[in-house]
Amino acid sequence: MAGNGKLFGVLALQGDFEKHQHALERAGARQCEVRSAADLARVDALVIPGGESTTMLRLMDYFDLFEPMKAFGSQRPVFGTCAGAILMAHEVSSPAQKSLDLMDIGVERNAYGRQVDSRIVEIESKVGLLEAVFIRAPIIRRIGAEVEVLASYQGDAVLVRQGKHLASTFHPELTEDPRVHQLFVELVNE
Ligand code: GLN
Repeated sequence: MAGNGKLFGVLALQGDFEKHQHALERAGARQCEVRSAADLARVDALVIPGGESTTMLRLMDYFDLFEPMKAFGSQRPVFGTCAGAILMAHEVSSPAQKSLDLMDIGVERNAYGRQVDSRIVEIESKVGLLEAVFIRAPIIRRIGAEVEVLASYQGDAVLVRQGKHLASTFHPELTEDPRVHQLFVELVNE
């Protein structure tokens, strides 16, 4: 089985976490929702969904998840999409806010502007041609030396990997295509 018995947690405080649960299942992984530090302690890897990163941060503080998630990410794989990628970044701008600092990237929030803030495009990636859904997406403005770019759009990295961590500024959970989640499942099983 693709998940190898590993349990994948999906942060379920806010945002499109259910879509990630379905995407993980399509990728053959066992999954559960994470809403507390006790939930987090049971899982082998974590997905942080898209949504609103400021709201998610507030809820992470409220449910005492910020420090446990930071500690989790220093030991175990994390995959963040859009708002999740913002939470994983080293530095965040527009506006600045705190983050888990799990990947050596700098992101600018809502960087495609308010007028054309959502789009669906085809992009070339390490796993082949992908349909990428962007919704009020950030742009990755800085990439550290340890970070590998797995896909770009208009010259900007949109899918990046550092060790066992993965981040995308688009939403692979919103298409039926399981390949990006499969990539994460493979990273976790390596
Ligand atoms: N604009 C959101 C933020 O800054 C992210 C949007 C998304 O996750 N689709 O947190």
